[in-house]
Amino acid sequence: MKQVSIVAQAVRASTTMAVDSMAKQMKADGYDVVGFGAGEPDFKTPDNISQAGINAINEGKTKYTPAAGIVELRKAIASQLKRDCGVEYDYTQIVVASGAKHSVFIALTALTNPGDEIIVPAPFWVSYYEMVKMTGGTPVIIEAGEAQNFKITPEQLEAAITDKTKCLMLNNPSNPTGMVYTRDELSALADICVKHDLYIIADEIYYNLIYNGAEFVSVASLGEEVKERTLIINGVSKSYAMTGWRIGYCAANKELAKIMANYLSHSTGAPSTISQWAAVEAINGPQEGIEEMRKAFDERRKHIVERINAIPGVSCLNPDGAFYVMMNIEGLIGKTLGGKLIENDDDFAVTLLEKALVAVVPCSGFGIKNFVRWSYAVSMETIDKGIDRLEKFLAE
Ligand code: PMP
Repeated sequence: MKQVSIVAQAVRASTTMAVDSMAKQMKADGYDVVGFGAGEPDFKTPDNISQAGINAINEGKTKYTPAAGIVELRKAIASQLKRDCGVEYDYTQIVVASGAKHSVFIALTALTNPGDEIIVPAPFWVSYYEMVKMTGGTPVIIEAGEAQNFKITPEQLEAAITDKTKCLMLNNPSNPTGMVYTRDELSALADICVKHDLYIIADEIYYNLIYNGAEFVSVASLGEEVKERTLIINGVSKSYAMTGWRIGYCAANKELAKIMANYLSHSTGAPSTISQWAAVEAINGPQEGIEEMRKAFDERRKHIVERINAIPGVSCLNPDGAFYVMMNIEGLIGKTLGGKLIENDDDFAVTLLEKALVAVVPCSGFGIKNFVRWSYAVSMETIDKGIDRLEKFLAE
């Protein structure tokens, strides 16, 4: 048979999903696995939002919508961006897609010509790397290790730019590190992007989940020049516990918004109509649920950080955002655990799952070695159960 697409064939399975599916398989086989792999809130979608979806079905709001989404939702998003992020967009600049992941893909598609270099700070959300390749770009990695709080510096950014550089992928707050750029750090990066005429894909999906008194600053709010070249990515998955509804969006300049909408019109057509109506209620309805969830995550964050740092051989920084911690396992490399020689983070994650029934994500797939990511979007009891098992596993 003829060769299938080289681009499609080169796509690697998502490591976050790989561990998750291994854990799910073990659970299905009857093992009592505790999962810290998945990047989604454990809360149920609030009832008022679910009801809006049900109402949409009952009211026959079940037909095609414009490719960029219903005007009601795009207007709601525009008001939210003004209220929460201090950036003003006309609703025609908002393009809704089937999840923020899809929005990142469409944003990259709208920008990238073959061979364009896209700067991806590491550790990165694993899908960025694959999506840059899928859309014809070349990922250029800037490494930001633990010693620099997992944040890139302006000097590193300057040094990575060539005449082929098109765009910087900027995930703030970050998955997998939970780090949040300060206003000054962000301004310094934004200035460089303006100076070199680079676009910024600013994935700000965790902007509601901020702790330790840190301030969230949307990069687009830093001035007209940077706003013009920024494509804000956001969505309802994390803030409203709506991961399965698949609604994300991109806010961009009018030209880019039109290109993205045209592209969508010939690919997905439009996001699910029912989900769009539910998202209108999420954004326009009561917002107290967000703060309740944030507080719960904050408690869990403090607890998991404290517990990890009390265990000899492992450690973690105290993140300011999102719902992840990066556990440093450098001290365990070369040791034998659970009867297996641990040579890297993949070995560690697989052995921890097989022997201690705890699922975490190895971070090599995120562009950094010797770390595993814990998602603390789980109950306190689950955190304790998982960390107790880790403690026992390391002590044996
Ligand atoms: N961006 C980041 C940084 C994420 O962590 C995720 C979810 N893991 C997404 C985007 C995708 O979210 P959605 O469910 O809206 O596709």
